[in-house]
Amino acid sequence: MPPQRDIGLYIHVPLCRQRCHFCAFYLEIATPARIESFLSALERELTLYHQQNLLDERALQSIYFGGGTPTTIPSQQLAALLDRIRNTYLVTPDVEVTVEAHPSTVTLSDLRVLAEAGFNRISLGAESMAPQDFIPIGRPGTISETEQAVANARTAGFSNINLDLMYGLPGQSLASWTATLQSLLALDPTHISCYALTIEDHTKLARDIATGLVPAPDEALQIEMGEAAETVLASAGFTRYEISNYAKPGNACRHNLLYWTDGDYLGLGPSAQSYVAGSRFGNIAHLDTYTSQLENDQLPVADRLPLSVEEQRRDALIFGLRLLNGIPNSLTADDQGQREILNQLIAKGLIVEEGTRTRLTPLGRRFADSVASELF
Ligand code: SF4
Repeated sequence: MPPQRDIGLYIHVPLCRQRCHFCAFYLEIATPARIESFLSALERELTLYHQQNLLDERALQSIYFGGGTPTTIPSQQLAALLDRIRNTYLVTPDVEVTVEAHPSTVTLSDLRVLAEAGFNRISLGAESMAPQDFIPIGRPGTISETEQAVANARTAGFSNINLDLMYGLPGQSLASWTATLQSLLALDPTHISCYALTIEDHTKLARDIATGLVPAPDEALQIEMGEAAETVLASAGFTRYEISNYAKPGNACRHNLLYWTDGDYLGLGPSAQSYVAGSRFGNIAHLDTYTSQLENDQLPVADRLPLSVEEQRRDALIFGLRLLNGIPNSLTADDQGQREILNQLIAKGLIVEEGTRTRLTPLGRRFADSVASELF
């Protein structure tokens, strides 16, 4: 029998206090009524999957509460939900339990409740450390709230703290981005994610750019900012282990590594995606429909795609190439045609083969999606 893949649980909370101008995710504005209906439907979804024994008695290696903003839900209720999960599924003794939080949604006492409940990793959406960057992207909150949230998280007992940043923001200069990185480092996180801003259709930011209210992103500057991040963070002891992710030694995000190392994950909540036993499936992106289907004891799955062995290999290659140490050579060059494409990508300086692994070069990382799609 082949070895079982690692598995994690993802809880998607599609609730936020307000919508940021760049955000195209499915979400609802958090109200007490929305929170209640979401939590009771989620409880039902947990139970249905448990009855199906979908995880086949496998122990969870990670549990990740993402969103949205999970901390729009009161901390006591998040703690109770985590308790419920731990009473329903097996978990490994060193399970990584992450909660994403917007800095202005958590107090010290909230963070204490979460740490005591067993959350051992927190991911705070800092986005920038320059207040002027928040205006065009409509990100609520202040820099001092970010600083306070990090200090409070540490006081509450979180030693594994991620801070999310965005770069290529309207009006952001290279100097201001570098200053943001330095200010962030002063908060001493263990993990930093740096995402290039992308302009999604049908967002307020896309409209503001179209009408000239906000300057369009400068692609060349964004590339320079990505390179600056690697230099600044490397000199502070962070290793870039994935295109957008940096960690101090031993602090790579175990949950996200599942996505890039062909692991399994079960996603619960509206619009959550899953990959279990070679099958991809995704929940309906609509809270009311999600709730009403679960009230009728139906899983709220909108689409399901069993993958052939070849498709599973393709996905493992596409996601794995995002890792700085790449993929095992066994995932590539399965046939003559693919070997030729690989040779062309190597000749163009986009990919290198080293020992038993194949990885993107710095140039290839800029075009990661198109390089991966060329291979299939
Ligand atoms: S907090 Fe995150 S999920 Fe919520 S609106 Fe802003 S970007 Fe979107």
